[in-house]
This record gives sequence, C-alpha cells and structure tokens, in this order.
Amino acid sequence: MARFPLPPGSTIGILGGGQLGRMLAEAASRLGFDVVVLERDADSPAGRVAVRTLVGAYDDPAALKALAEAADVVTYEFENVPAASVQALTALGLEVAPGPKALSVAQDRVDEKTFLNAQGVATVAFAEASTPAEAAAAAARIGVPCLMKTRREGYDGKGQRWVEHVAAAETVFEALGGQPVIVEAPADFVRELSVIAARGRDGAIAAYPLAENHHEGGVLRRTLAPARVSVPLADQAERIAAKVLSGLDYVGVIGIELFELSDGRLLVNEIAPRVHNTGHWTQDGCEVDQFEQHIRAVAGWPLARARAVAQVEMLNLLGDEADAWLKFAAEPETRLHLYGKREAKPGRKMGHINRVKPLR
Ligand code: AMP
Repeated sequence: MARFPLPPGSTIGILGGGQLGRMLAEAASRLGFDVVVLERDADSPAGRVAVRTLVGAYDDPAALKALAEAADVVTYEFENVPAASVQALTALGLEVAPGPKALSVAQDRVDEKTFLNAQGVATVAFAEASTPAEAAAAAARIGVPCLMKTRREGYDGKGQRWVEHVAAAETVFEALGGQPVIVEAPADFVRELSVIAARGRDGAIAAYPLAENHHEGGVLRRTLAPARVSVPLADQAERIAAKVLSGLDYVGVIGIELFELSDGRLLVNEIAPRVHNTGHWTQDGCEVDQFEQHIRAVAGWPLARARAVAQVEMLNLLGDEADAWLKFAAEPETRLHLYGKREAKPGRKMGHINRVKPLR
C-alpha cells in the first residue's frame, strides 16, 4: 500500500483516456507526478499527455495487473468503471480513489437517491420498477407526467424518456430496453446549478462557488460561474456537499448537479464521482482548478482553497465548433482548451472556452 502524501515522482494511474483524464494528467504532471493511463485506444487524448498508456479494457485482468505494478494510486475519469475492476485493483494492494462506495452509489440511480435521502439530502420523489407492470404502477404512484430513466448507464440525457400517461408507461419501459428503471417526479426548477467539491484524505472539505448550467438536448452547453446566488443558497449547497462527501467517506473531487426550486430549496439531481464538465470554469476562474484539486486529494496532499478569482462563462465546443479555434485564440478574454481528439463527430465534446471577466 502506498504511503500518503505521495511525493512528486510517484505515479498516478487513471482509468479512461478522454478529456477529463487528459486535464487530470496535465495537472498531475504540473505537480511532478507521472501518469499512466489505462485505455482501450492506444492514441487517446489523455494518453498523449501521460508518460504511458496501458492498452486494454477496464476489466482486462492483465491490464489491471500492469496498472497495479505501474501506479502508486489509481483514479478514474468516468463513473461506469466496473466494480469488479476496482475490487481487482484493491486486491492487488492498490488504493482506488474515489472508493468503491462512491462508484456503486453513483452507478445506480435508485441507490443514489436512496443514499442521498438517507443523508438528509432532498431529491425528487421516485419509485423503482423492473417489469412493465411495475413501471405502470410506479408511474401511477408518482403521477404523470414523470420521467423514466434506466437505473444504470445513462448519461448526457440518454436512457430517459417522459411518460405523459400511465397507459404509456409499459411502452416507455420497453423502449428503454426492458431493464430496471427509476421513475422520477418532475422537478419544477427555476435553474440548474452544480457544486464541485473536494474531500481530502484527512477529511478536509473544500467547495467551489456554485455554477449555473444550461443544457441543450441533454448535453451541457454553457456554465456561468460563480452563479449569482444568495448567501443562504450557497450555504445550503455547501451543507449538501459536506453530507454527500462525508457519507461516502470520499477522497477526490465530486460533481453534484442541483435543481433550484422557486421556493429556494435545492434538490440533488445526480452525483458524479469525478471531475465534472460544469467545473471546467475553475481552470480560469479559481486559484486552483478542479483537476489539480482532485490530484491533491488522491495523492493525500492538502486541499487548496476553492476560491474564485474571476467571473467565467464556459462554453463547450461540440463537433465542428472547435474548427473556429483561430477566432477564439484571437479573443482577448477567451482561454481555449482543446482536447486533441482526432475526429470531430457531431455533438462530440472537442474542447471548451472560458471567457473571463473580473469578479463582480
Ligand atoms: P440526468 O441524466 O439525470 O442528469 O438528466 C439530464 C437532464 O434532464 C437534467 O439536467 C435536467 O435538465 C433534466 N432532468 C433530469 N431529471 C429531471 C427531473 N426529475 N425533472 C425535471 N427535469 C429533469
């Protein structure tokens, strides 16, 4: 087992080679760490800034063994890492952060909301269903319209559909693949916000200011941060973050998506046990960004202050929007972040820009 704090020169393993892994690798390298990425694609965005890519699936025993030999600690850039892979790494004597509890809670929407409610954190009302008849009963109990989502593997608005009439619930259940679902009451929100927060190995917690998020077609388009919020609302978000992080005995950065209701209450929509797209503004808006904060936590270093130093509008560059890199590069207020992806498929996250203004 590694001893914490890990000194510079240690190796951090990252499961996943996408843009989040890339930005984690950049931050780790700045602190003097080496990064090894485990990824199916030999030519990934993260792999190109890491010292080495181990090519393989996340559940490939030989690849996991090689990772355990190479790394002093392991983290991940997406939450659908198989639980068995984390168990295999742990059995090989490696620490994985965030730990298995955070992963299992975040991988299942029913377990997630059940955990949140048990911590005293509010969510929309929900019911679970595993058969068409149960889906109809759940829709009747929650009331229509309601939102049916697969319990597992949904992201960016995929794997979910509205149910307008109880009579349609069975058809929607089948359309979602006939797999176990959650049925959610609609959140009558005025804004979607998120709080990015971190917990260190010593239990210290640091929460960034709230971000206001705008989605298009289920995909994040724009973040404004720090969001204009009242002090009680900011306090409420910090309390939620502390309950979630402590309840999971968490190590690392977490993204918590929130619905702000008209009466000022916050409901948690979803937690992501990793660095988060709604936290990209911290790269140019905070003293220390979410990527460095995550590496600090995972390596057992002290957390940095999560304080804003600028006002940021973050825009995701989807598909061919990143082709305008020269225009963005010429804008004085714009910081351009490109992920080095080889191919711009429609809707694919190719990069983002942070437009920076002095703090209000
Ligand atoms: P999710 O995949 O759960 O993050 O949901 C994607 C988006 O769907 C959210 O950002 C919301 O805009 C919307 N959404 C999800 N759940 C609900 C809900 N219970 N009520 C209203 N809108 C929702």
